[in-house]
Amino acid sequence: MESNQLPIGSGPHPRRQTRRVVIRHGAREIGVGGGSPVLVQSMTNTDTADAIATAIQVKELARAGSEVVRITVNNPEAAAAVPAIREQLDKMGVDVPLVGDFHYNGHTLLNDYPDCARALSKYRINPGNVGQGAKRDTQFAQMIEAACKYDKPVRIGVNWGSLDQSLLARIMDENAQRPQPWDAQAVMYEALVTSAIENARRAEELGLAGDRIILSCKVSGVQDLIAVYRELAKRCDYPLHLGLTEAGMGSKGIVASTAALSVLLQEGIGDTIRISLTPEPGGDRTKEVVVAQEILQTMGLRKFAPMVIACPGCGRTTSTVFQELADRIQTYLREQMPVWKKQYPGVESMNVAVMGCIVNGPGESKHANIGISLPGTGESPAAPVFVDGQKKITLRGERIAEEFQAIVLEYVQSRYGANEGADQGAREAAL
Ligand code: SF4
Repeated sequence: MESNQLPIGSGPHPRRQTRRVVIRHGAREIGVGGGSPVLVQSMTNTDTADAIATAIQVKELARAGSEVVRITVNNPEAAAAVPAIREQLDKMGVDVPLVGDFHYNGHTLLNDYPDCARALSKYRINPGNVGQGAKRDTQFAQMIEAACKYDKPVRIGVNWGSLDQSLLARIMDENAQRPQPWDAQAVMYEALVTSAIENARRAEELGLAGDRIILSCKVSGVQDLIAVYRELAKRCDYPLHLGLTEAGMGSKGIVASTAALSVLLQEGIGDTIRISLTPEPGGDRTKEVVVAQEILQTMGLRKFAPMVIACPGCGRTTSTVFQELADRIQTYLREQMPVWKKQYPGVESMNVAVMGCIVNGPGESKHANIGISLPGTGESPAAPVFVDGQKKITLRGERIAEEFQAIVLEYVQSRYGANEGADQGAREAAL
């Protein structure tokens, strides 16, 4: 083997070394960076001024697995509603930390609504949207002073759709002085990275501790995001919030986010992620949480819920029985997780195989904790079930789905039920 070759199976690169930022709500403390697990976050799309609707959506996102939830705080009505949202969540037993997303008027809202400033666990400041000219510095300083006063961490979140134009002009001027000026794309990257780092340094000069700062530089192009975050990661040791902005709808949004984030996460870059999916009209907002978790889990970085391995089906499966069973088991496992993760620690590592015929069915099923090989077209109407590599039973008839689900539950109870105390303590300590 050549000396610069990694051994097969060396897995993702080690995580980038960063400071550790702690986000708190009540007794709950969540670490970002500094060796903490990569955190999943999401954002509501309700009107924040509607405290009940927002609290309900935050609860849904938290139940789906979002470990931090961001809400926009865009006007006095929204700021006034934030303490009520927090109170409602606490009453429902939802201790997920809330992040306030501020643009344009954050300095005023944090000053005029101290209960809002207290109720939030973190502030997101967009340095491109804090004001123009001399006002910009004053208003940025007011927001940082609020963070210091209420002891809150801050994400300095640069977005190329709202890049500080005066900073961009300065970087362009500097570029024009170069013997060989960079192209427009390189200048844009430089402006994004410089904006994040200069504002972080400025926040520290204003008194915010270095371990209270997270950075992001969001763009909507996959290659742009990779280039910008590689540079950002080289130039600082603040934890990084990773996400492709305006990723889009459906499969396009999922694929683009996955492509960009996977490259960076594989290089150890990224301490918290958010997937900015545009939901279908009336669609489920929690999809962005599921996608974030699946990126991290399929990359082997974290475990959230049992994985269902299902074959794609082919001409050997002329009915939809196996698709329906795979969907049913996947939905069932995910729905159980809010309870199971407390009751059955370690269950998130379980693999369940649902296979369409005898070609790969028994083999794949034997590799999983539990697997079922359904009969393909022309095969005998029998479905062997394998548990820990051994054939346990052969199911037949109309109730295969119900019987298989019961076997899965029985396995979970017997395999993961015994370690409850010790494993739960270890999991919580790890988070
Ligand atoms: S396991 Fe069977 S049904 Fe599934 S893709 Fe392979 S050959 Fe087709």
